[in-house]
Parts: sequence; C-alpha cells; structure tokens
Amino acid sequence: MDEIGVDALLCSVGPDLPYLTGYEAMPLERLTMLVVPRGSEAVLVVPRLEAPRVVERPDVFGVEPWDETDDPIRRVVDHARGARSVAIGDQTWARFVLALQDALPDARFCPASAVTGPLRVVKDADEIEALRAAAHIVDEIAIVMRDRPFAGRTERDVHRELVERMLDGGHERANFAIVASGPNAASPHHDPTDRRIKPGDVVLCDFGGTRNGYCSDITRMFHVGEPPAEVSDAYDALVVAQEAGVVAATVGTPCEAVDAAARSALVDAGLGDAFVHRTGHGIGMEAHEDPYVVTGNATPLAVGHAFSIEPGVYFPDRWGLRLEDIVVALPNGPERLNDAPRDLAIVG
Ligand code: ZN
Ligand code: ZN
Ligand code: ZN
Repeated sequence: MDEIGVDALLCSVGPDLPYLTGYEAMPLERLTMLVVPRGSEAVLVVPRLEAPRVVERPDVFGVEPWDETDDPIRRVVDHARGARSVAIGDQTWARFVLALQDALPDARFCPASAVTGPLRVVKDADEIEALRAAAHIVDEIAIVMRDRPFAGRTERDVHRELVERMLDGGHERANFAIVASGPNAASPHHDPTDRRIKPGDVVLCDFGGTRNGYCSDITRMFHVGEPPAEVSDAYDALVVAQEAGVVAATVGTPCEAVDAAARSALVDAGLGDAFVHRTGHGIGMEAHEDPYVVTGNATPLAVGHAFSIEPGVYFPDRWGLRLEDIVVALPNGPERLNDAPRDLAIVG
C-alpha cells in the first residue's frame, strides 16, 4: 500500500478477504468488509448474525459487528477516514461500491488486486501443498472414471457423479464439472445436458473443486469405443502440445511464450485454427486468476506461480478435445500437480 500510495484497502466478497483473514464473506445484501487503513489496525465490519462464523485473530484484525439498524457504510467510512486513495475488492457488489463512492467523494478508487494481486500470485510452500492435495483428489477421480460406463448415460448423470466424487474425495465445494459428449465437446465450456452418451462419442470431462480454500482443475478425455483415426491423430497432437506448454513453463519465461509453445505444436499439426482459447490460467483460491497464459501477457513466470496448461481443439457440430494439468513453476523446473494418465481413455 505504501509502494502504490493506497490509503485504505477494502475487501468484501471474493478471495482477498479469506486470503488475508481466513474468513469468507457470504454474498449478501448485508455488507461484510475488511478495512485495512495504511499504517493502522485492520477491522472486519461484519453483520452481527455472521459474526459467530468469524475465527478471531486479534493479532491480525479487529472485529466490529453491526446491528440490523446500523449503517455499515458509515462504519467503513469511519475506519477509512481521510482516505484519498482506496483499493476496493474487485468483486465487491456495485451497490456497496456506489454507496462508498458517494460517502467518500474526494477519494480515488482502484481495484484491490493492485495491492493483493502481487501477493496472491506467488504461492508459498503451504499453498503449493494445498494445490497439490486438491489436484490429487481430482486425479483419483479421473483414474476411477476410466473404468466407469459412459454409453447410455446422460451428460448430467456423469456430471452428478463427478460432483459427488469431488465432495466424497475431500473437496468442501465442487466448483464445476463440464461433461461434453460428441458434438457438445466442440463447445469449450459446455453446460451438461440430458444428451445420452453413445458409442463413437468423445466425452470431455473438465472438473474442479475447492479444498482448504485452494482449487483443483483437470481435464481428461474419454472415448466410447475405439476412436477413428482423425480423433486419435488430433489427440496425439494435443498431448504433444500440452507437453510443449508444460516444458516451456520455466521460471523467467514470459507467459505468452508458454502459450506460443503449446500453440505452435498444434499449428505444426495443422490444428492451429481449432485452438480457440488461451493456453491456461492461474489458479489458487480462485479457479481462474493471475497469471494468464495468453498472447500479450509478457509477465515472466516466477517461482510459485501456479497455472493450468490446457490446450484444446474444437470442431463445431462434430467434436472437441482438451487436455489440462495444473503446473507450478519451481526453481528446478515446471512441476505438474496432476499425474492421472493422459492418454485418450477408451470406455464402454
Ligand atoms: Zn475453462
Ligand atoms: Zn478445467
Ligand atoms: Zn482450467
């Protein structure tokens, strides 16, 4: 905050608050907001009925419950008093941002990520361990699914199974479970439907959850019966591209060069036009966060950066393929946190 001249940091819903305090605000019309004034004590302004959920850390922040008839905006402004430069949580509801801007007419507002982003993007040893544990859960699920039946089931049914397995495996939250079969796999973020999976289908499963506050995210591909040559050839090229992306992800390499490494492998295979998205995204307390592995991001990878490498190819109305692992940049080179088999699993 000193470096960038921020007088007060205000964190509400979103991961900055649990990152700093261990407490996650409910997305409610009642305001929860951590006020961190530069150079003085942080205070969590929290609805009285939510206060019992706060694990107090008096060495880190004070707690100030407000009652139903209090004005929480006034409380926040009182603690941020005199702030001319305010960093406000990127995901704070507009109604609260607008009220705070009204109450602090002379203040300049910037996103809280200006303060928290550089802290959160670098994972320490405990955070990497948390990501590894989360990755392990989805790895085990990806392995189990290789022996599960797919034909005759709906996408929604497989989706339900993935969600259940994530919760059973130790995720406190299942964040998403994309199950995209046959032509639906051509839509990268397809919502599972009642389409029945049938012989000859590819099935793309991309799923992840949260464990101890940190996210998992994996994509594995299944094929009902033996795949035709065009699918297995494209899949082989995808494996090469994904490996190229992982190998390129060394400390000091710009994010966009990692994207280029994966992308050029697919271009070489004549599949460049089918790779319609970036190569990856950072991961931590959010499933998608900095650093983004994309053309135009010249940020060099640093020790502790964690991100996905997930090239894909998509052919509208026909099929699509993606392969995704979470990778951490470490001094000795990139380390994959996922180790479930990466071949195209033949299922029944
Ligand atoms: Zn995605
Ligand atoms: Zn994913
Ligand atoms: Zn991902």
